[in-house]
Amino acid sequence: MSLFKPLETNPETKKSAPEMPSAEPVKCVIIGSGPAGYTAAIYAARANLKPLLFKGIQPGGQLTTTTEVENFPGYPDGITGPKMMEDLEKQAARFGTDIRWGIASSVDFSKTPYQVVIDEKQLVEAETVVIATGATARYLGFDTEEKYKGSGVSACATCDGFFYRGKDVAVVGGGDTACEEALYLAGMCRKVYLIVRKPFLRASKIMQQRIMEIPNIEVLFERNTKELRGNQVVEEAVLIKKMGHPDEAEEVIKIDGFFLAIGHTPNSDIFKPYIETDETGYIVTVPGTSRTNIPGIFACGDVQDKVYRQAVTAAGSGCMAAIEAERYLAQR
Ligand code: NAP
Repeated sequence: MSLFKPLETNPETKKSAPEMPSAEPVKCVIIGSGPAGYTAAIYAARANLKPLLFKGIQPGGQLTTTTEVENFPGYPDGITGPKMMEDLEKQAARFGTDIRWGIASSVDFSKTPYQVVIDEKQLVEAETVVIATGATARYLGFDTEEKYKGSGVSACATCDGFFYRGKDVAVVGGGDTACEEALYLAGMCRKVYLIVRKPFLRASKIMQQRIMEIPNIEVLFERNTKELRGNQVVEEAVLIKKMGHPDEAEEVIKIDGFFLAIGHTPNSDIFKPYIETDETGYIVTVPGTSRTNIPGIFACGDVQDKVYRQAVTAAGSGCMAAIEAERYLAQR
């Protein structure tokens, strides 16, 4: 029995690639440049697939927005996310990966060779496709959050923390990312509030312990954010304490920065007309492989992993995707 269900998609949403002047034929195109994409590139290049890699919306992937990576094997003293991605890119290039700037804007996987349109103007025809598009940070979704994006609202402490040196900020979320962001910001800000909707943190024990040890971090449990206020920039957040309880109460905290760390959405939208995804948008792969419902199309990294979501597991799955692409080409 097949793992994959027949996709119930509207044929009108299956966009054919627009007429392009000429198509570039390749054996293997890799979409995305996080640990999964670059590792797939290293393996595919060494297997002589001459991979073409497009860096995508966030070149280097999510690790470029993190500080210290302490849990990637081989770095006893840790390494910064951006430096690690720089090294991975160099390693992929060293074996001949053609690495280019560009975003996959649409695909047509209805026939082979598979078509991938880059930046709505360049057509690539690939015998195999490795999808390594990762996942994107989530926002809470209220109006004033949108209004202050770039004026106090951010989903990346590493990118924007610098602007809040000596100021008061809040981080929303109770997972490892939120704790990591709060710890990073605590090193440069006067005060960091960690806004957690439950009465406990979901983060790993070691992270929880670190958070509790830092004097300028205050964890606000059982708080939801209602809105942000300020003249041009964020000046305060309105929180609801114990939302839905009889003793629900509103409170206001004075802050200059509001950082979101509430999880991610997989970047799978353009593939959905062809590739099976689960109810939350993660690409479904055959367990223990990177195979999707279409032969020759493989998915690796965070776009197909909602369980582990680690750089090392993403890199491992990128390796799997490249090996499978190579075997698929050899067996045709
Ligand atoms: P996560 O574990 O899914 O945590 C998301 C947090 O955001 C949860 O506390 C969740 O609250 C909260 N949240 C979600 N929607 C919310 C909303 N609408 N309002 C308020 N709060 C909301 O995501 P993550 O922290 O990004 O971590 C993802 C994965 O990466 C995890 O497996 C994590 O261990 C891993 N990670 C590891 C490291 C590391 O090892 N260095 C660093 C970062 C991430 P609830 O708990 O109430 O659901």
